[in-house]
Amino acid sequence: NALYKIDGWGAPYFSVNSSGNVTVRPHGERTMDHQEIDLLKVVKKASDSKSTGGLDLQLPIIVRFPDVLKDRLESLQSAFNYAVKSQGYGSHYQGVYPVKCNQDRFLVEDIVRFGSSFRFGLEAGSKPELLFAMSSLCKGSSESLLICNGFKDSEYISLALIARKLSLNTVIVLEQEEELDSVIDISVKLGVRPVIGVRAKLRTKHSGHFGSTSGEKGKFGLTTTQIVRVVKKLYQCGMLDCFQLLHFHIGSQIPSTSLLADGVGEAAQIYCELVRLGAAMKVIDIGGGLGIDYDGSKSTNSDVSVGYTLDEYATAVVQAVKFVCDRNSVNHPVICSESGRALVSHHSVLIFEAVSSSKYTVPTMSSFDIHNFIDQLPEDAHSDYNSLSESAIRGDYESCLAYADQLKQKCVEKFKDGSLDIEQLAATDGLCDLVAKEIGVSNPVTTYHVNLSVFTSVPDFWGIEQVFPILPIHRLDERPTKRGVLSDLTCDSDGKIDKFIGGETSLALHELEGENSKYYLGMFLGGAYQEALGGLHNLFGGPSVVRVSQSDGPFGFAVTRAVPGPSCSDVLRSMQHEPEIMFQTLKHRIEEFVQDEGQMGGAMISAGIAQSFNNMPYLTVGSSCCLTAAN
Ligand code: PLP
Repeated sequence: NALYKIDGWGAPYFSVNSSGNVTVRPHGERTMDHQEIDLLKVVKKASDSKSTGGLDLQLPIIVRFPDVLKDRLESLQSAFNYAVKSQGYGSHYQGVYPVKCNQDRFLVEDIVRFGSSFRFGLEAGSKPELLFAMSSLCKGSSESLLICNGFKDSEYISLALIARKLSLNTVIVLEQEEELDSVIDISVKLGVRPVIGVRAKLRTKHSGHFGSTSGEKGKFGLTTTQIVRVVKKLYQCGMLDCFQLLHFHIGSQIPSTSLLADGVGEAAQIYCELVRLGAAMKVIDIGGGLGIDYDGSKSTNSDVSVGYTLDEYATAVVQAVKFVCDRNSVNHPVICSESGRALVSHHSVLIFEAVSSSKYTVPTMSSFDIHNFIDQLPEDAHSDYNSLSESAIRGDYESCLAYADQLKQKCVEKFKDGSLDIEQLAATDGLCDLVAKEIGVSNPVTTYHVNLSVFTSVPDFWGIEQVFPILPIHRLDERPTKRGVLSDLTCDSDGKIDKFIGGETSLALHELEGENSKYYLGMFLGGAYQEALGGLHNLFGGPSVVRVSQSDGPFGFAVTRAVPGPSCSDVLRSMQHEPEIMFQTLKHRIEEFVQDEGQMGGAMISAGIAQSFNNMPYLTVGSSCCLTAAN
C-alpha cells in the first residue's frame, strides 16, 4: 500500500491482503509456504475471552510475534556467517542481545532459546539486568557471552564474578578506569579469575541524534591514555591474561557502512595494539548501532533510516576487522555485536483504537450576522475591516489575512478591557475563520482521538521526535478521505502524534463509521526501547500483551499467551497508593451517604467502584459502565 510505504519499511514481514487488512509473515521470506496472519483477526481473537483463557483483554494491545524475533536473530547470524565464509575470515561471529532494549521476560528467554545453537548471549547494563541475564543464560549455551556493561559498584562486580564462578562466559567491561581496582580486589577475595574488557572512546564520531555517545567527548568509555594505564596495571598485577575483549559503541542507528567501517577499523587498530602490548585479546565487541529503516527510504543521512542491509552491515564489519588485523599480522578475533534495535523492533505491533474524531468547522454567517457585527465594531477596528474588504476585492489575499489578524487582535484587546461582549468576540473569530477558509488556508486536518498514551507507548516520539510507521490495520482496500493527527488520552498537549514517516504532518485516515464500527490503527517497529522507556503519565499503564505464533489451524495462528495490561489498582500501587484501603474508604463513605439520604443501591455503587479499580485505565470502548448502571 503505497500511501503508507509499507513495502519500504515492512518487508519481508508486513504487507496488505486483498481484503485490505495488514498481514504478518512471521518467518519473513524464508517460508513463503506459511499462511499469512491477518492482524485484524488477531485483534478480534485477543479481545475474545474464549481464546485468551477467559481474560477480557482491553486495547491497547501489543502483539508479539516470537517467530519474527527468531527470523531476525537467524538473519543476523546468517549475514555474519556468510560474510565470515565469503571473506575467509579466521574466526566467527557471536552476538549478544542488550536486554535494555526490551527486558520482557519471555522475549529474552526466546532470544536465549532461539540463539542457543549459535552461542548467542546477553548484555546487561545494571544489577537487575545482570541478575536476570544470569538466570536466563543458565538455560542457554555455556559458551554464550554475558557482557557486563554500565557503571559498576562493588556489588555489580561481585555478581559478575559469581556469574563466572557459575560457568557463565562473563566479561566485565570497564566503562570507567576506577572500576579496575574493584575488579582486581574483589576477584582476589572471591578467588575468581575475571575476564576483563574495556570500552574504548573512539575518535570516529556519528553525527546523528544517537551519536552523542561517540567521539572523544562521549559520555562513556576509556580514552587511549586510560587504556594504556589499564594494561600497565594488569601487567603489574600479573593479570594481563585476563584482558581479552575490546568494546566500543558509536551510537544507535549508524546511518551508513562507511561510518561503520571507519569506527570498526579504528577499534580493530586499538585491538591490534593491545595484542602487541601483551593482552590476551580474543573478542572485538562492536556494540549496537545496526539500524533499521523506519520510513523505508534507505537514506544515509536520516535518524530514521539506514542505507544498508543486514548482509551489507555484516560484510562491512568483517572486512574492516580482517583488513586491520591482516595489516598487523594479528589473529582474527571473535566478532561480537550488541544489536538491540535491529533484533527486536519488528517483533511487536502496538494496536490501538481511534474512538472519535473532531474537525474544527467554520461557523456559517449570514450577511445579516456580518452587518450586525460590523455595526458593533469599535471605530478603529472599522478601518481594518474596510481594508480587509478592499484587499479581498483586489484579490490580495496575503493582505486580507494580515488585516483579519489585526482585527482579531484589536477585538481581543477590547474584550479584555471589557468593551466588547462575548458574542462580538465570537463573531470576530467566525469572520476571521471564514476569511481563512475562503482563501484556502484553513486547516483541513482532523484530530483522531486514540485510546492510547503517547508517554506510555511511544515515549521516543515525545522525547526525541522519533517517528514510527503508523497506519490503519484494516480498510486498506478503501481510499482514505481524511488527513488526521492522533491525540491521546492524557491531559497533556504533548500527548499527540503529528509527525509521521516521510516528513508528513498528518496521516491519511478513513472516516469513522459510527459507534458500532471499530477503527484500529497499528504502530509498527516499536519493539525496541518503547516499553522500557514508557512512563505512567496520568497513570496510564502499559498495554495488554499477547503472543501469537504461526500454526496450522484455520486462522494460521494461535494466541499462546495473553496478559492484561496493568489495572487502575496496579498503577496506583506503583505510586505507593493502597487501592484496598482506598476502596474501603470509598465504600464506607457510600454506606454513610446511602443511610443519610435513605437511598438504595449502595452495594451496586460499591461494586461499580471495585470494578473500576480492576479495569485498565484506558477507555472501556463499547462496554457500559457499572457506575452508570448503579445510578
Ligand atoms: N550496546 C550499548 C553499549 C548501548 O549503549 C546500546 C544502545 O544504546 C546498544 C548496545 C544497543 O544499540 P542498538 O539498539 O542501536 O543496537
